[in-house]
Amino acid sequence: MSDVIAKIPTDLSIGGRWQPASDGARFDVADPATGEVIASVASGSAEDATAAVAAADGAAAAWRETSPRERADVLRRAYQAMTDRQEELAEVIVRESGKSWNDAVGELKYAAEFYRWYGEEAVRAIGGISHAPAGDKRILSLHRPVGVSVLVTPWNFPAAMATRKIAPALAAGCTVVLKPASDTPLTALLLAEMLTEAGAPDGVVNVLPSRRSGATVGTMLADPRVRKVSFTGSTEVGRMLLEQAAQQILNCSMELGGNAPFVVLADADIDAAVEGALVAKMRNGGESCIAANRFLVHDSVAQEFADKLAQRMGALKLGPGMDRGNDVGPVINEGAREEIAGMVRDSAAAGAKVLVGGNSPAGPGWFYEPTVLARVDHDDPLLDHEIFGPVAPVTTFTTEDQAIELANDTEFGLAAYVYSGDLARGLRTCEAIEAGIVGLNRGFVSDPAAPFGGMKQSGLGREGAQDGMLEFLETQYIAADW
Ligand code: NDP
Repeated sequence: MSDVIAKIPTDLSIGGRWQPASDGARFDVADPATGEVIASVASGSAEDATAAVAAADGAAAAWRETSPRERADVLRRAYQAMTDRQEELAEVIVRESGKSWNDAVGELKYAAEFYRWYGEEAVRAIGGISHAPAGDKRILSLHRPVGVSVLVTPWNFPAAMATRKIAPALAAGCTVVLKPASDTPLTALLLAEMLTEAGAPDGVVNVLPSRRSGATVGTMLADPRVRKVSFTGSTEVGRMLLEQAAQQILNCSMELGGNAPFVVLADADIDAAVEGALVAKMRNGGESCIAANRFLVHDSVAQEFADKLAQRMGALKLGPGMDRGNDVGPVINEGAREEIAGMVRDSAAAGAKVLVGGNSPAGPGWFYEPTVLARVDHDDPLLDHEIFGPVAPVTTFTTEDQAIELANDTEFGLAAYVYSGDLARGLRTCEAIEAGIVGLNRGFVSDPAAPFGGMKQSGLGREGAQDGMLEFLETQYIAADW
């Protein structure tokens, strides 16, 4: 075991204390590049979940009374610690998630920025006073912390999905219990330790790894002391949590699945579109909810685009993320690799042409080659699935209206990308697409200062920007005369 991994506390972090699960249960964490177990982590029980809520509730009154400046200072120190310890954190992320070194460093910069941005946002008092239309009354609207918040995060961005929730929650004055994904609990545990060092009082941030996610999260959502759930993950689990949250009428933020179209109009700069496609598809090895999932390319430029993309994808170096020269790491686990390989096999059998890739290399780890499929049929089931891996299916359209119709032909509406040489045409197309985030002539859209979230079944609410802080605040209106 590396020194960095060996030093991470692997128990539950509840009320500022590290403790084993109430029944002693633990689970293994594996390195996707080798399949080897790298750590054993405490697996929280329903009893531990109740204890974590009690700790967050116990710390809530004092935390909401701290000055915004004090909360901002904690977040600023946490930002500084993440920045200073970037190498150490990158190793943890690479080892537990499999992503490339560059992707881990990119994630960490993004993740730390949420602490900095919300540290700055904590001291911007929002609220207002206005006259009622009749002129004789005042309307005061104030914001206050929503209360104890349960945060549930996925494995694909173990740091950024956690800080994107923790930072606005703490800035708003809420205390939290974070349930990280079981594939990647180590980063969250290290972040908990760093937040304590940054001055977060005991009980403000509790971290509860657990293989028993249904039981632990279910217990917390049923606890009347909890007032908020913020979830990032699959639409399927999000739907279940919404049902559970309905019992206590919890405030809900849901960042769910995506199926992003990448639309290349006939007048696009094809070289720029290929570069953007590489980022939109291959950032995080394709394991991103905003990853370009369907390449919709005008038929006059489709061949050129697919050939150039295949050339760039074929040149990417596949290998363990700890070797900093590699561009693409393994996917998260064997099941994910089999699912991706099956989708590509079925698509090829249905007539798609494999321009590059399409294989699982022999040897240890869950690697899958960067793959481009051309001439994918509009009815191919591949286009309905979130691929979550390094596979780019290219299909064609003939008119702008058809491109929009195809782009919107999904129950998801998280991200989309549009390439066009004409700004007005590009913007018109962006506005016609039902997605919460659209990149216009850009493959990289994530920004802590921008509102991130989905339409349709991709979710509810926004993270990042002032919108993200409002998710952890509620409004009180005071009717007053003076
Ligand atoms: P899951 O929905 O399976 O898991 C997400 C989290 O929910 C994990 O912490 C998991 O715990 C937990 N969980 C799983 N089942 C339950 C349950 N029954 N009750 C309570 N919690 C549960 O998604 P993945 O982790 O597999 O992530 C991939 C999915 O997440 C993709 O669909 C992707 O699009 C989406 N995603 C969305 C993002 C967004 O911002 N919109 C960002 C990143 C991913 P455990 O690991 O222990 O099972």
